[in-house]
Amino acid sequence: MTLVPVEEVRAFVLAACPPGPVVEVPLAEALGAVAAAEVRAPEAVPGFDNSAMDGFAVRSADVAAAPATLQVVGTQLAGPVVPVEVGAGQAVRIMTGAVVPPGADAVVMVERTAPSADGASVVVEVPVEPGTAVRRAGDDLRAGDVVVTPGTVLTPGRLGVLANVGASSVAVHRRPRVGVLSTGDELVGGGAPLEPGQVRDSNRPTLLALLASSGFVPVDLGRVGDDEAAITGAVRSAVDRCDAVLTSGGVSMGDVDLVKVVLDRIGDMRWFQVAVRPAKPFAFGLVGGVPVFGLPGNPVSSMVSFELFARPALRRMAGVPDGALDRPRVRALAGEDLRRKPDGKVHLVRVVTAWEPDGRCHVRSAGGPGSHQLSAMAAADALAVLPDGDGVGAGDEVDVLLLA
Ligand code: AMP
Ligand code: MG
Repeated sequence: MTLVPVEEVRAFVLAACPPGPVVEVPLAEALGAVAAAEVRAPEAVPGFDNSAMDGFAVRSADVAAAPATLQVVGTQLAGPVVPVEVGAGQAVRIMTGAVVPPGADAVVMVERTAPSADGASVVVEVPVEPGTAVRRAGDDLRAGDVVVTPGTVLTPGRLGVLANVGASSVAVHRRPRVGVLSTGDELVGGGAPLEPGQVRDSNRPTLLALLASSGFVPVDLGRVGDDEAAITGAVRSAVDRCDAVLTSGGVSMGDVDLVKVVLDRIGDMRWFQVAVRPAKPFAFGLVGGVPVFGLPGNPVSSMVSFELFARPALRRMAGVPDGALDRPRVRALAGEDLRRKPDGKVHLVRVVTAWEPDGRCHVRSAGGPGSHQLSAMAAADALAVLPDGDGVGAGDEVDVLLLA
């Protein structure tokens, strides 16, 4: 089987994973979701001219020859509007966020004033320009301004802006519900002593956590043995309940790689030998119209395969624009030799990043390169991309995919 470049496999997968349906959700459930419609401000924010300081609302002309003594005719707190006006020679005590009373055109901060003991007058010590310490109506948003465009990821700040324009819910792409199914007769869960030949199921918790940390809804589909009927039943029920399914194991060239057999029978699958290491075996296709990702069983491979193919595709289903599907990539400096041998594949090397005083990202190996050596993958926060060849030497530039 010929090796297929990562980009080609990625493009094939993305094409089959269009953005999911649009739902209206309360703001409290929208963090990390992707907006599906434009939202405009129906009104100005702030809605009225208000004070940026605690101090005194004045007529700037009255204090042009400061110091000036003004008569204090009232107090305006943030909140209900007091019926008070600032006439010539007058001032109103005012707090941050309070409506600027009619007649005033500036606020003098309290630190630049000396109120009389009885509060009836105040000495303003400095002149102020018109508009000083006044936050104008609409200087954050004007009525009609676009606050969210389709494709915007709803961050905490965006949710605050939506609240600011009176939205209590927002139209988003539904977060994909993604099932995870482990396969293999050797797998066991829990902490019981292992029988000879048994292996603990680490892929399922890892993949479920990768889904959750990427903003998708993880669905634990459990574990099945290497049994055609069991795998068939599990996958069929999975595609009924989920928007996408990840299987792990059973997609290589082995004797009991039955995931392959089953998916070929019940789905429209394509099998890849990807030109990458780790994560060479990979399957993708539709079962009952639902995207199914056949991830390799080796723990590091399943994580890398998730990063390269599943995560971008699921982000696409979640409504993320095509230009923003992948993890950020930076040009880093190798802190040590990262050597490899030519084999027709891109190697993704587990590395730890450090941003050093030269302003550059430096990387060092996070540990063993085996696709079973999950500890090194767990310690890594990036993957160095080594194109086919001999690798790079200490001090050379190298592209890295940032995972964290
Ligand atoms: P397979 O792709 O099924 O041939 O599995 C390849 C390797 O990954 C074998 O060593 C399996 O024991 C191991 N493996 C498969 N599934 C899991 C899993 N869920 N957790 C940990 N290791 C696994
Ligand atoms: Mg297996």
